[in-house]
Amino acid sequence: MIVNCREIRTGRQRRGILPIIALLMLSMTAGCSQSNPNQGTTSAQSPQAQEAASTPSVQSGKTKVVTTFLPIYLFTKAVAGNVADVEILVPPGTEVHEYQATPQNVKAIATANVLIKNGLGLEEFLENTVKNAQNSKLAEIDASKGIKPLNEISPVVKTAQEEEDHDHEHVQGNPHVWLDPVLAKQQVTNIRDGLIAADPANKATYEANAATYIKELESLNSEFQQTLQKTPSCTFITFHDAFPYLAQRYNLKQVAVVQIPEDQLSPTDVQNAVNAVKKYKVKALFSEPGVDNKLLSSLSKDLKLTLRPLDSLETGETDPQHYFKAMKANLQTLQTACR
Ligand SMILES: [Zn+2]
Repeated sequence: MIVNCREIRTGRQRRGILPIIALLMLSMTAGCSQSNPNQGTTSAQSPQAQEAASTPSVQSGKTKVVTTFLPIYLFTKAVAGNVADVEILVPPGTEVHEYQATPQNVKAIATANVLIKNGLGLEEFLENTVKNAQNSKLAEIDASKGIKPLNEISPVVKTAQEEEDHDHEHVQGNPHVWLDPVLAKQQVTNIRDGLIAADPANKATYEANAATYIKELESLNSEFQQTLQKTPSCTFITFHDAFPYLAQRYNLKQVAVVQIPEDQLSPTDVQNAVNAVKKYKVKALFSEPGVDNKLLSSLSKDLKLTLRPLDSLETGETDPQHYFKAMKANLQTLQTACR
């Protein structure tokens, strides 16, 4: 069953829920049977990330910046370089949508100068955590300031288990803006301006670092444009509503969101997914790196569709260059699947 639903699942995506994307192509191609070499490369939590998540900042005299989750950490680290200490609250590999704050998170915020979040309602854990930290000197940066969120979303195909949550509405729109390189540029700019306001002594460094990263984002945008304009209106179904900004930017079409429970697929769930795939003439299925794909594998086998990874960057490596690596892998996947 396809239901029209304006609600975005920001807060209810459980850890381990199986996010996959089904891609519809008007013509079947041989490319659908290739496997993606990048599958699974970004799932492990790096030692760096663990360290960043758990150790209090060194008494370096540097500005202490706390970020919420991976993309915001990557952008902030790129802008801050070595002149500020940057930490991450949600360790990569942990689901951000339903994250529960730890006492260490409260401590980190209590001793920080700056807190940077994605905003748009993504970090539901943050309000109480900040309250508990009682840090009156904390400067808060909303990386999505000035970005107009998408509220219109694709029809949602519900599974039985999820029905009871249906009324929950996120008034702030879809938070996955970092997956559009153009909006990522806006986020980097907001982060730069916030850091300069909090730590004017290092203005020149923040400006130079941000300029370098923004240039890379611009060339990534050109690469996406040039590549995806060859496959206009490539249409897909998503199982994790992470890609509407990317779709809008590059003239792809997200036509439906299918929600699959993490633990067990009921026959109804399978039937719902199969119906959606048929309705939209889906030719390929996408999962995310690091997700246990047993259910999806069997579903894809039933549907005779190849399973490929598309990365929402909610988990991965903590090097700022990881953003480009993962996005270029996404582009390659889209290019192959949309062909
Ligand atoms: Zn997400």
